[in-house]
Amino acid sequence: MNSYENYIGGAWVPSEEVSRNVNPSDLADVIGDYAQASERDVDRAVDAARAAFPSWSMTTPQQRFDLLDRVGSDLIGRGVELGRLLAREEGKTLNEALAEVRRAGQIFKFFAGEALRSNGEIAPSIREGISVEVTREPVGVFGIITPWNFPVAIPAWKMAPALAFGNCVIFKPAEQVPASAWELVSILAEAGVPDGVVNLLMGQGNIVGEAMVETPGIDGISFTGSVSTGARIGTRCVSRGKRVQLEMGGKNPMVVLDDADLDVAADACINGAFFSTGQRCTASSRIIVVENIHDLFVEQLVRRMKSLRVGSALNELTQVGPVVDARQLEQDERYLAIAKDEGAVVYGGERVHCETDGFFLAPALVTNTTSRMRINRKEVFGPIASVIKVKNYDEALAVANDTEFGLSAGICTASLKYAAHFKRHVKAGMVMVNTATAGVDYHVPFGGRKASSFGPREQGSYAREFYTTVKTAYVNCG
Ligand code: ADP
Repeated sequence: MNSYENYIGGAWVPSEEVSRNVNPSDLADVIGDYAQASERDVDRAVDAARAAFPSWSMTTPQQRFDLLDRVGSDLIGRGVELGRLLAREEGKTLNEALAEVRRAGQIFKFFAGEALRSNGEIAPSIREGISVEVTREPVGVFGIITPWNFPVAIPAWKMAPALAFGNCVIFKPAEQVPASAWELVSILAEAGVPDGVVNLLMGQGNIVGEAMVETPGIDGISFTGSVSTGARIGTRCVSRGKRVQLEMGGKNPMVVLDDADLDVAADACINGAFFSTGQRCTASSRIIVVENIHDLFVEQLVRRMKSLRVGSALNELTQVGPVVDARQLEQDERYLAIAKDEGAVVYGGERVHCETDGFFLAPALVTNTTSRMRINRKEVFGPIASVIKVKNYDEALAVANDTEFGLSAGICTASLKYAAHFKRHVKAGMVMVNTATAGVDYHVPFGGRKASSFGPREQGSYAREFYTTVKTAYVNCG
């Protein structure tokens, strides 16, 4: 059995305990044993990162550009191998996994350029003879805590800006996906990242993650994951004076009006709800349909949904891979049972038996629901979407906003009037017109409102807000 160690201060470090990593498409397929960091390892990583910070923070933008650009090229160059590993470990389809690795490479290349674009400002002073300069400096050491659903892209979009602006990183991936994290860090190491600048701590959230939040040696935490963990991290960081950026859940609405091109709308709903096994924080989990096309559209969705091929992530014909693990499968089934108890009608949602033993669940459409039902309040994070019937656009908008979340929201319509009104009035960080709620670009901001997000936006040039600190300098030139 292959064993994989943590990376601390430029060395691969074994641990007393390991965790076995198993393929959710084939439970007989063991990927490897992965180190489990201890609190002591967190201290070691903090010491290494703090020691590395003074010289790393003073590197030239060109040095950081060269390193990040090389990492981007290596990710793209090794895309097929890494994509296969990602699909094998996390369960998204091979095509989705290949696209994710390519995206991570593009992100590193974008932030390579951001290292060069980190300009300041010069302002005229209100006082004579004084000049004013506003510049940005690196913050220090960032803790990066990530979820399992995008095991290469999310760490990339947090680590790349942290490094581009001269910070050091301690990276803790989710328990389910250490292999993707290990490969990403080994690419950074091979590309020549100086010792201590990037550290990998695989292990338990309630041990490693907790210790990262507690230690005074980490200046900021960027977290993506569940609402409950995010809320806990947020309050602790604030009380300890740490920067914090949280990306949490979504309960994203997709409104379908009666003037929409229904093929376009069905594509957007099927993609948004079921691709990546619905395990995306931007998934379209609430499909809001006006009543005069409701029955016709539901019929079309059910037909399309039932034709989706569920199976092993590594089979090229598969369109929906397995659910990530047993706990998630149990959660998906529990929410379907609750929906039925509350009076909903469920199409699909049964277990699927494939050649290999895995966590396969048929996509499910939950109809006859109201906005108050649990299925429309809680994030399920599986291949499950519900349908809410509304009278008209005004009710659709009200239902779209009737949620504690506000990450992404979509509308399918041919009307400029409704599209423009929705863009302005839906309470979400991202709005999609005639396209799925999931699927975003990397050079523009990503993030939401309300319980979905906290702190500055991620991605694009907006990422610098979190990963730099601003200095205002006054000089008396008189
Ligand atoms: P999920 O329920 O989808 O696994 P979590 O929010 O629990 O989502 O996990 C997201 C990330 O947060 C993972 O890397 C996990 O290990 C980490 N994590 C879990 N609990 C804590 C905690 N108490 N403190 C810090 N990180 C944690």
